[in-house]
Amino acid sequence: MTEQQAADQVWDALMKLSEIAARSRHQQRELYPLIRQIVDAVVARGVRAPGTGLFVPCPVCNAMVGQRCITIPGHILHDSIHPERVELCKETIGR
Ligand SMILES: [Zn+2]
Repeated sequence: MTEQQAADQVWDALMKLSEIAARSRHQQRELYPLIRQIVDAVVARGVRAPGTGLFVPCPVCNAMVGQRCITIPGHILHDSIHPERVELCKETIGR
């Protein structure tokens, strides 16, 4: 397995964890901090995150790492993510 394949596997698993967390509301408080912990460790190794914005906290609605954005009046959502969050991701940990 190449480094890129290993990274892709980690992001794929984190994406699935994020979907599971979104479905089970009572487990979100446990799952989102764990997702963040893994993201921090992977990024610290120099791996860039997918540019979806999902793996940074949202500057608009304060959604946590791994959590879908929350509807806020006056802010448009694209694919459940605020565009400002996608920008933040690109400027920081995104690829
Ligand atoms: Zn948001």
